Amino acid sequence: MFADAWPLAVLAILLAWPIPVFLARASWPRRHARAAIALWQAVGIAGGLSLIGAPLAVGVAPLDRHLRTGLFVLWRDAFHLRVPASLGLAQEIALALAAVLTVRLVGVTLLSALRIERDLRRQRDAVDLAAEHADRQLRVLEHAAPAAYCLPGTRPRIVITEGTIAALAPDELEAVLAHERAHARWRHELVVQPFVAWESALPLPPARRATAAVTGLVEMLADDHAARSAGRPALARALVAIGGTAGPVPSQRAGDSPKPGATPTLDRVQRLLRAAAPNLTERLIGPAAWFAAILLVAGPTWYVLR
Ligand SMILES: [Zn+2]
Repeated sequence: MFADAWPLAVLAILLAWPIPVFLARASWPRRHARAAIALWQAVGIAGGLSLIGAPLAVGVAPLDRHLRTGLFVLWRDAFHLRVPASLGLAQEIALALAAVLTVRLVGVTLLSALRIERDLRRQRDAVDLAAEHADRQLRVLEHAAPAAYCLPGTRPRIVITEGTIAALAPDELEAVLAHERAHARWRHELVVQPFVAWESALPLPPARRATAAVTGLVEMLADDHAARSAGRPALARALVAIGGTAGPVPSQRAGDSPKPGATPTLDRVQRLLRAAAPNLTERLIGPAAWFAAILLVAGPTWYVLR
């Protein structure tokens, strides 16, 4: 009974609490931001699949001890408008729970993506009207307070204020622009958006941890890009002068100004200036994280399809 449900339920619990807590506290992602993002994405995908898979497996358990073949029997009966006689109330509740979770996760993800896209379009239109067009992407707002942020998408905008230009030396300004252009070029919003959507669908501490961690990690990726083109000292000085820049996904609440990146400015400056050469163990953690990410998605997929 429940042959496939227990491993999926255990995996769902592990991915819902201890693994996100462990990952959020780890320090190695500062050196391997890309691998850490892949691992967070794998945690999200495997977590979602196991969260839906576990009640599904409970629901189809009387039909077959394997989830895949049980689902096939359920589908075949549903196609002939029959409810399998062996399903009791507990199985029907489990199937309903799986259906509600699926609709909520998929529905909220789609709605959240549409809402973010609509907000970005409005903000793009507003800065196109209000700001000076410095080039195809760069918009300069007439405002004394220093601020720099990216409005990502297929037609991205990099927005800075006159206060930013006044506060920074040329190499520092170049570093800030390189950081924002990295967000735009590598479509960092597509990395962060699913986590924002999952947090809306399941507003629980692990989802909040995941969103905060991934938002911080894309800031690190953009910092690394800017440091390569403008130098670490220039970027660090710029961060000290104007504070953190906004993350690549706008706040979902109407009227909010862009949020500062999740990685605190001081932490980002320290990361830029204290980059010691990694030892062998630190170098191996990156490939290990990629392997863990692949295993986390491939393992449960194989288990269900076997
Ligand atoms: Zn940024």
